[in-house]
Amino acid sequence: RVKEKGRAHYQFYCTDMNSVITNVVTLETHLRKAIEKNELVLYYQPQIDCETGEAKCFEALLRWKDHEFGHISPDVFIPLAEDTGMIISIGNWVIESVCKQIKTWNEKGIDDIRIAINISPKQMNQPNFVPFIQLMIEKYNLNPSSLEIEITEGVMHDTREVVPILFKLKQLGIYISVDDFGTGFSSLNYLKRFPIDGLKIDQSFIKEILSDEKDAAITTTIIHLGKSLGLEVIAEGVEEKEQVSFLRNVGCHKIQGYYFSKPIPVDELEKMFLCSSPMKKILI
Ligand code: C2E
Ligand code: MG
Ligand code: MG
Ligand code: MG
Repeated sequence: RVKEKGRAHYQFYCTDMNSVITNVVTLETHLRKAIEKNELVLYYQPQIDCETGEAKCFEALLRWKDHEFGHISPDVFIPLAEDTGMIISIGNWVIESVCKQIKTWNEKGIDDIRIAINISPKQMNQPNFVPFIQLMIEKYNLNPSSLEIEITEGVMHDTREVVPILFKLKQLGIYISVDDFGTGFSSLNYLKRFPIDGLKIDQSFIKEILSDEKDAAITTTIIHLGKSLGLEVIAEGVEEKEQVSFLRNVGCHKIQGYYFSKPIPVDELEKMFLCSSPMKKILI
């Protein structure tokens, strides 16, 4: 879908016009304006606990609707933001927005909730990263355990830089999970040395879990590995009931995917998950 043509050229198919646009400077300019005008929005996707059927954790996912190009996927604009350095301001905006949102929920009496934030490697290596999170926790008077940081295996390379950052986050009481687990350079070594709380099995393994023996074996093994290391394991991209059954049978802790819900805006989330618990009935 997305082709990167050198640093300054992204070619992407526009959902609305169904045509190819090859001018990236335009996209970059549009993204800059969207940030300035506060046009990025966060959606939230629930993670369902396999034991209780409850959704108490949600992943925050960025959404951007451009006036001209329509909806642009984060898979397109996040890499662009990383290349241009815009990821720092976007990333800080995401962190602050999530903290503000949790405070709003806290004020409504919702306390046992955790929101996962995706963190880009560039963002994490920025000296201000941990102090900024600390500042936001204080500003919005949050319980740090209501925050989760999702890192990818790509972050793990530079262990000298990353390990102290992760330990600081851990000390603050923030939950740390590894996103897209199994797709990067998964070294078992880092599971031993990094203060990780959870593993998110990448959706590429889940997709054909029912038909592909290898995917089934890999997924089962990751779940057992995670369990024996005391980690919480969550499966991403779950779309079918049979996938849910498979994952529950092999002891997966949590499930995230379209089967339960797509990422949804705040008002919908409040209606569906925070005021009642219809999901409980679906699973149990
Ligand atoms: P991710 O963190 O691995 O997020 C999971 C992606 O899978 C999301 O795509 C989600 O909408 C999608 N998904 C969830 N359930 C299903 C399912 O059942 N089937 C299928 N086919 N897809 C499912 P999305 O929202 O388009 O985000 C794509 C990626 O963009 C994310 O992958 C993450 O790497 C990045 N991203 C999104 N928001 C942020 C952000 O705030 N900061 C950073 N740094 N990256 C972000
Ligand atoms: Mg994620
Ligand atoms: Mg993922
Ligand atoms: Mg991903």
